[in-house]
Amino acid sequence: MVRLATIALMACAGCHVSLTAMSAKLVEVLKSVELVHSYILMDAKHIPDNVDVGIVEGGLKTSHDEEVVKELREKAKILIAVGDCACFGGVPGLVNIYRLDDSFKAAYIDNPTTVEGFRPTKDLPETRPQALPISEIVKVDYMVPGCPPRETTLESVLTTLLSGRTPSLSSQSVCDECPRKKTGEKPEAIRRLHEGTPDPDKCLLEQGYLCMGPVTRAGCGAACVRAGVTCDGCYGPAEQTWDQGLAMLDGLLGLAKERFPRLKIETLSGMIYRYTFASSILYKMARKAKGKA
Ligand code: SF4
Ligand code: SF4
Ligand code: SF4
Repeated sequence: MVRLATIALMACAGCHVSLTAMSAKLVEVLKSVELVHSYILMDAKHIPDNVDVGIVEGGLKTSHDEEVVKELREKAKILIAVGDCACFGGVPGLVNIYRLDDSFKAAYIDNPTTVEGFRPTKDLPETRPQALPISEIVKVDYMVPGCPPRETTLESVLTTLLSGRTPSLSSQSVCDECPRKKTGEKPEAIRRLHEGTPDPDKCLLEQGYLCMGPVTRAGCGAACVRAGVTCDGCYGPAEQTWDQGLAMLDGLLGLAKERFPRLKIETLSGMIYRYTFASSILYKMARKAKGKA
C-alpha cells in the first residue's frame, strides 16, 4: 500500500479542507493508501519513515516550517506542494512587500481592534524574514495550485499518481474554460468589481474589470467568472506565462492605456500578484538587488 503523509506549514487548513471535500472520491483514494501521518486528518505528532507520497500545505514563514518540510522531504519518495502557499508563497507572500517589523506592528499593535497590543514571542518559532514557497529549500515533484485547489484537481492528481502515471495540469488558461462572450472590444478604463454592474454574459476584462483569466492556468472550470466575479488568479501562471503579474500588467497597459488607474503599488501587487508575489520575477530581482537571493 502507498504510504501517504500530509503536513500543514504556515497555512489556513483550507487545502486540507479541500482534500476532505473530495468526499466519496477520498474514500476511494484511501482504499489504496495507508494514511501514516496528518496533523489535520488524524492524531499524529511525528512523521514516520518510509513515506511514499508526502503532501505539503502552506509556505515557509517560520524556522519550524523549514524543519518540518525538510524532514518530510527526507522521508518521502514523492513530494507534492498543494495550494498556492506551498507552490508560490500564496497570499501570505504579500507580506514581503513590507518590512517584517512593520507587519508585526500592523497586526499586533496598530490594529484598530487591539488595546495595549504586544508582539507575542514566548514559545514561538523564529519568524523568517520572508514568506516563500517550499521550493526555496526542498525539491518539489508536483505542484497542485489553487487557493485552495478544487477537489476535482486534487482528485485528478492523486488518482493519476496512485495509478502509477505522471499527473499533469491543464495547459490552457481560465479564459479557455470561460463561457463569457469576447468581442475584441477595448474598455475605456480598468476598474474594480465594486465600481459598476457588469454585463452577466460579456467578458469581464473587455468591460474593464480586472480579470486575471488570460494569464491564469485552467482547471477550476472558470468557477469565479461563472459566479459573476473576476478571476483573481488563484490557479497560478498559465502554461506559457513566465510571470503572472507582469504578463497581466503588460496586457492591461495594451488594453486601456489611456485611463490606467493610479493605484498604489501595494494595491496593484495585491491584485495582479495576489498568490504569486513571493515567487515572481519582480520579487526575485528585488531580493537579488538586496543580496538575499
Ligand atoms: S493555498 Fe489558500 S487555502 Fe491553501 S493554505 Fe494557503 S491560503 Fe489556505
Ligand atoms: S478575461 Fe475573464 S471574463 Fe474574460 S474570457 Fe477571460 S476569464 Fe472570462
Ligand atoms: S476563476 Fe480564477 S480565482 Fe476563481 S477558482 Fe478559478 S483560477 Fe481561482
